[in-house]
Amino acid sequence: MEVMGKIDQGVVSIEKDGRIVFTVDLSGRFIFYTDGNATYRRSLENKFLKITHNGNTRKLEQIPDDQAREIANSAYDFLRSSHDSLPEEIREAVSPFLDMNYEKLVLDAEKMKIIYGGDIPIVPPDQYFPVYVQAETGCSWNKCTFCRLYRDRTYGVRSLEDFSKHLHSIKEFFGKGLAARRSVFMGDANAVNIDQKVLLQMLDMIQSEFNLPIFSFVDAISTQKKKSEIHFQEMREHGLKRVYIGLESGDPGILRIFNKLMNVSEAINLVNKIKGSGINVGIILMAGAGGKKFYRNHIDNTASVISQMDLGKGDIIYISPMYEYEDTEYYKVAQDLGILSQDEKMKQIDELKAKIREEFQEFNGKPLECPIAPYDIMEAVY
Ligand code: SF4
Repeated sequence: MEVMGKIDQGVVSIEKDGRIVFTVDLSGRFIFYTDGNATYRRSLENKFLKITHNGNTRKLEQIPDDQAREIANSAYDFLRSSHDSLPEEIREAVSPFLDMNYEKLVLDAEKMKIIYGGDIPIVPPDQYFPVYVQAETGCSWNKCTFCRLYRDRTYGVRSLEDFSKHLHSIKEFFGKGLAARRSVFMGDANAVNIDQKVLLQMLDMIQSEFNLPIFSFVDAISTQKKKSEIHFQEMREHGLKRVYIGLESGDPGILRIFNKLMNVSEAINLVNKIKGSGINVGIILMAGAGGKKFYRNHIDNTASVISQMDLGKGDIIYISPMYEYEDTEYYKVAQDLGILSQDEKMKQIDELKAKIREEFQEFNGKPLECPIAPYDIMEAVY
C-alpha cells in the first residue's frame, strides 16, 4: 500500500493506492476527501457536500452533521495513519494538526461566523477558495421574490476603520491556511455600489493585505444607475478582476415576477460598460425561471439579451437549476406557473446553451467565445 503526499500552492494532499485522497490547508482545515466511493467537500462554514457520479450524471447532496462527523473523523484518521510513511517535508507540515477532528472543525466554523456575523449565503461558482471580505453587509435591494439570501441581514457599509479590523481578523483566522486561497471575494451582494472614493480605498486595503485578484457581485437594479465605465476602470486599476451579475433571465415578464426591477436594456448597458472598462463578467442564469408558462420565453429572450452583450474570452455564463423555496413569495406564484421537474430544468439548461450560442452568432456574425457552464447553486457555499 503506497502512500504519497505533496504540497502545492498551500494545499497538502495525501493519497493512498490512487484511491483515497485527503486534502487540507496548511492550518489543517479539511478541503476534500475521496474514500473511493464518493468525494466530500467541506465549506468553511462546516457544510459537507457529497459528490458522486452515476455514468455522466453528477449527484450532489449536503450531508447531515452526524455523517459529516464520521467522514471528517475518517479523513483525519487516514492522515494520522499515513503520517509515518510520508516524506519528511509533508510530515513536518501536517504534524501541528495531527489532533484535528470534526469537533475542532465545528469550532473553526464558529470563529468564522463571528467574523462575518453569520453564514456567507453565496459565492459565485468559480469562487470556492476565495478569502471572503465583507465591505458591506446584506443586499441594498433585498426584495427579489425568489431570493432569501440576505433576508435576515440588515444592509450596511463598513466604515474604513471597521473594514481594516475586519481584514486583520480574517487574516488571523486563516493563519497559514491563507496560502491555499486563490482570490478575494468582496461581498456581500453589491459591494461595488459603495461610494467610489471609499470603495477604491477598500480595494487598496484588500490588495495590501492579501495581494490576490479581487472579485465581486454587481446587481443590474442599482449598479447601472450608480457607476459609470470610468468608475469601473478605476476599480480595475485597484485590483477588481471580474464581477458576477445574477441576471437569472432575459425575459421581462419573469424579471417582473421576480421583482428584479430592471429593464433588460439596463442590464445590457451595465455589462457592456463593465466590459468596456476591461473587467471580466460572469453572468448567472437560472433554469426553471418562470416555470412551464414561461419556458420558451425564458430561453428565447435570455438568448436575445445575452447576444447583445460584448462577451468574449475571460467571461463566463453559468446556468444553475432554480430552487423554489417554500418560504419565498415566488413559491406561491410558481405553483400557478408550473414548476419544472429537475429533469426538465436540466433539459432547459441544454436548450439555453444551444440557443444562446445560436443567437449570439446570428446577432454578432461571430461565435460566442466564452464558456457556458452548468452548475448547481447548492455548490456555491463558502
Ligand atoms: S439583488 Fe440579488 S441578493 Fe439582492 S434580493 Fe435580488 S437576487 Fe437577492
